[in-house]
Amino acid sequence: MAGFVGCDETIERLYVYLDGELTEQRRIEITRHLDMCGPCVGAYGFESELRRVIANRCKDHVPESLIARIAEALRNEHSRQSN
Ligand SMILES: [Zn+2]
Repeated sequence: MAGFVGCDETIERLYVYLDGELTEQRRIEITRHLDMCGPCVGAYGFESELRRVIANRCKDHVPESLIARIAEALRNEHSRQSN
């Protein structure tokens, strides 16, 4: 039985997911969660877009502090919506 991936785990793993570093099993679990969970889909779409913009504008300098701040904001937004 495949484990259910919760919202917190999904948000945390989005970064790894976007970097293509997840195993096939993890990718399937997260994709399944995204299928069911609106707020996480929103976060995923936003993250994908952000990564693309950053990749295009500054090829090899991605400020980790910015990524961390956005992750925090997404987490706060997400927990507000699920409560
Ligand atoms: Zn979720």
